[in-house]
Amino acid sequence: MILVSSCLAGFEVRYNGSHSLNKTVRQLFTENKAIPICPELLGGFTTPRQPAEILGGNGFDVLDGKAKVMEKSGSDVTDLYIKGAYLTLEKALEVNATVVILKEYSPSCGSSTIYNGEFENVKIAGNGVTTALLMRNGIEVVSEESINSSLKGILEHD
Ligand code: SF4
Repeated sequence: MILVSSCLAGFEVRYNGSHSLNKTVRQLFTENKAIPICPELLGGFTTPRQPAEILGGNGFDVLDGKAKVMEKSGSDVTDLYIKGAYLTLEKALEVNATVVILKEYSPSCGSSTIYNGEFENVKIAGNGVTTALLMRNGIEVVSEESINSSLKGILEHD
C-alpha cells in the first residue's frame, strides 16, 4: 500500500484551505492503491490554520529537540507537528506502506526542500518533521516532484 499527502490527492486540507492536486497521486487514490493522510490534521490542526515553518534546522532537528516549528504569529507548535508525525508513522506501519508520497516544501511533508523559518518565501534544503520520522523508521519517502517510473508502472499495469 502507498500513503500519500491528502492535499496531493485533491483534498482541501492545506493551511489556507486549498489543495495541491497531483494527477498521478489522485489516480492512485481513486484506484484504491493509496491512502490519503494529512499529518497536520492528525496532529490536531484544523483548516484553515496559520502557516508554519521550521526554525533552526530541519525535521530531524525538530525530532531531536534542536529546532522548532513556529507559526507566523510566533506560536510554538512543535508538539503538534511531532504528534502528527507519530500518528502518520503509526498509520504507515498499520497498512504496511512500502512508499509514502508527500508534498514537497511543507514543514511536515517536505522531503528535500522546506522554507527557511523566516516566512520570507525562501527555500532551503531540508525535510519536514513527518518525513524525518518516516525515514528514521526505514520507510521510503518521495516527493510528488520525483514520482518515479516504478510508481507510474503501478498505474499502468494493474
Ligand atoms: S501536512 Fe502534508 S498533507 Fe497536510 S496539507 Fe500539509 S503538505 Fe498536505
